[in-house]
Amino acid sequence: MSITGIKGMNDILPGEVEAWQFLESSARRVFAAFGYREIRVPVVEKTELFCRSIGETTDIVEKEMYTFADKGGTSMTMRPEGTAPVIRAFIEHKLHTLDPVSKLYYLGPMFRHERPQKGRYRQFHQIGAEVIGLDDPKIDAQVLAMLSHFFATVGIDGVTLQINSLGCPECRPAYRQALLDFLQARLGQLCADCQRRAATNPLRALDCKVPGCIEATAGAPAVIEHLCTGCDLHFEAVRSHLTELEVPYTVNPRMVRGLDYYTKTTFEMVTDRLGAQSAVAAGGRYDRLVADLGGPPLPGIGFAMGEERLALLLGARDDASPRPALFIATLGVEAERFGFRLLTRLQRQGIYAEMEYAGKSLKAQLRRADKLGARRVLILGGDELARGIAQLRDMAAGTQEEVPLTELDARLGLVVCD
Ligand code: ATP
Ligand code: MG
Repeated sequence: MSITGIKGMNDILPGEVEAWQFLESSARRVFAAFGYREIRVPVVEKTELFCRSIGETTDIVEKEMYTFADKGGTSMTMRPEGTAPVIRAFIEHKLHTLDPVSKLYYLGPMFRHERPQKGRYRQFHQIGAEVIGLDDPKIDAQVLAMLSHFFATVGIDGVTLQINSLGCPECRPAYRQALLDFLQARLGQLCADCQRRAATNPLRALDCKVPGCIEATAGAPAVIEHLCTGCDLHFEAVRSHLTELEVPYTVNPRMVRGLDYYTKTTFEMVTDRLGAQSAVAAGGRYDRLVADLGGPPLPGIGFAMGEERLALLLGARDDASPRPALFIATLGVEAERFGFRLLTRLQRQGIYAEMEYAGKSLKAQLRRADKLGARRVLILGGDELARGIAQLRDMAAGTQEEVPLTELDARLGLVVCD
């Protein structure tokens, strides 16, 4: 029996990978213009990093992490998200001593043990960005401007930016209490998870996807009605900067996000085109995280986009299969030798060229050229070689002409060398 891949972990095949490359190169270009530099961190970290940052009572830490003991007995976890490892690296390498503001981006696989379905996998990929060292609301607006600009650049429409504020350690406790009182009065209507969450992490109940819980919490108090003056002003300023920068958004007072480290501004890019998997990108401010992980008291803000969901929204791209500029068809040993050398010269000069390697008939070679979508075919036979010419066929026009071998380089756009 053959060995198959692991459920929820996908291969990205040629034909699909082009959309990924397009998304990644677009992200790199957009992020660079906003001053971000790439950081690469390992896919495995000490489990403690995620427990302390994401929060012990979140779904991710409670049930979704791939955690194992390594041979030395240390508890390791396959990263479920990118922010915590990036902040860990930021602190470890004291990046704030090099520059008071760090703008970093990352891309790569993340791992969560979730129930696989369309747009939800166990190994998935994120493209994310973080700004550490600034708490000015202009930065929140700029991060959101960059995120919406990315969507415009890659041509994904039908996504809406939703924003909210989760307050800070000053205003959160009073809100938490108000929410707790609300939930206690409706405990019977909540699912078992939310009954438990009501005591440990009541905000999570607002994130629950169970219909009964959504109904029961419909009239729940909103965080933005309980913000302290500082958080309120910050949120106001973010909103007015978004308007200045002409970034459309709506306020979603129910959005709480699935990670505990968020403070103040939180946001999601949502779509109704992916069924239950409505969030394509998500993030927020985390003004306590750097200090909580043992670093200096620096504020931060960031987001992550799910690449699988982006790729689903992007759909198939027509430039999916690269077409050879030239296919070389040969007949006979001499012609094949000549053709093979020419092929390699073309490839060395960055021109995508192909030939048939297995000595097939001319008809079979032309069929192969057609299948690959070659733009032109160079036909080299023993006779042609002897006459010092080759036939150059234009596949789209259906025309064919004789080209002297001495003019071949110039005709094929090769840099002439001996
Ligand atoms: P969801 O509500 O869909 O579970 P989330 O709040 O858990 O998302 P985040 O942790 O904020 O998501 O991750 C940011 C983005 O990463 C999401 O918006 C989504 O596009 C993507 N993502 C998260 N989990 C998965 C997954 N299991 N498979 C594919 N993409 C995912
Ligand atoms: Mg999730």
